[in-house]
Amino acid sequence: MNTTQPISESDLSLARETGFSECAIALRRALTTTPSGWLLAVWFCWDRVPTHSIVLWLGIAAAIWAGSLAVLQHMIGTGSKLARHRRQLRWIAGLDGFAWGLLTWFLMGYDPVLDAVLMALLCGVASINAQVYGTYVVAYYGQIGILLAVSVLGLLQTGSQSALDYVAGLSVFTALTVYYTRAISKRLIEGIRFQHANASLAAQLRTALQKVELDAATDALTGQWNRRALDDVLKQQVQQHAISGKTFSILMLDIDFFKSINDEFGHLVGDDVLRAFAQQLRAFLRTDDVCARFGGEEFVVVLPDTPLGTAMEIGERIRRGIAQTPLLTKPKVQATVSIGVATMEQGQSITELFAAADAAVYLAKNAGRNQVRSHVPMPVQIDAMQS
Ligand code: GH3
Ligand code: MG
Ligand code: MG
Repeated sequence: MNTTQPISESDLSLARETGFSECAIALRRALTTTPSGWLLAVWFCWDRVPTHSIVLWLGIAAAIWAGSLAVLQHMIGTGSKLARHRRQLRWIAGLDGFAWGLLTWFLMGYDPVLDAVLMALLCGVASINAQVYGTYVVAYYGQIGILLAVSVLGLLQTGSQSALDYVAGLSVFTALTVYYTRAISKRLIEGIRFQHANASLAAQLRTALQKVELDAATDALTGQWNRRALDDVLKQQVQQHAISGKTFSILMLDIDFFKSINDEFGHLVGDDVLRAFAQQLRAFLRTDDVCARFGGEEFVVVLPDTPLGTAMEIGERIRRGIAQTPLLTKPKVQATVSIGVATMEQGQSITELFAAADAAVYLAKNAGRNQVRSHVPMPVQIDAMQS
């Protein structure tokens, strides 16, 4: 079974772009190790080649090397973009090939054994660079072409007996290296393309998962957190309460006579009223406060780091605000809300906290609705101010 998907043009150009910057980085690493190749050549040639030839070749190679490394460093520093830097990289590759090719002009023709060793060195340079340019193979073709051309001319001008043998050997080696590098390069680019595809799939999955998680935690009608999310928030608050001792409070809000709104205006208007109520409620809260639909026409607000007295004041502000502003204008619907307040006590469970808030709502309803009540007798209960 063939599992390879067709490569789209945009995928391919993205993979080539990445391949180009990878090549620039590999080339910088290779250039920093280049002097070890020179040292090797100088070591082989010492006492066999006139010193001025060695020095001249080294001088040219070092000048090209230093210039190339500076350009490359700048290129990488500015993000090595294919469109902007391809010519620079090809120049660096070509000049590197030129410097190595010059080795035949300056160092060969003095000693047959040395010539063979230097040929082997050139083949080594060609193979190492095949790896370096694997993800930007065009530059490699340029480099190896120049290296071959300059070497062949250099070999021919030495007039050594083995020159033609070396020309043949180097040409065959170069042709084979280019042939295999082409295939390897294709596979490397393909690998990069798959990496990109996997990364973008992973990002899509992450986004989809986040959406599912958000949906699972949100009440579809009002857009507020749902009961499940509320339970998670409360668990976190209980943990924090146990660690830092910071207390928190909850408000349980139950819209008064909501059933009669449904009866009078219908369920769809009832739904709008619930949405409007949630929106108005949210406007009274701080960003850290958590607002959840507890069920039906009941909401719970979690007030982190809030003692009972402050929670009662916040509840009273909400009660008054709801009573003063119509929830809907067309049709005009005005409602009031009864609010029960409970504060987390040491060692209390979440169920007990809910029960306390529920009991407080019951007190508020029994006291005539449109009231704020707490689960413990307060010195002064804030009574309804009918608006
Ligand atoms: P009380 O002042 O004692 O709280 O009276 P109430 O009428 O508000 O309370 P009751 O529990 O008798 O009625 C609540 C109503 O809320 C009954 C139910 O049909 C309605 N309800 C629950 N969920 C929804 C909803 O999602 N949309 C609409 N439109 N109505 C809902
Ligand atoms: Mg109710
Ligand atoms: Mg109600």
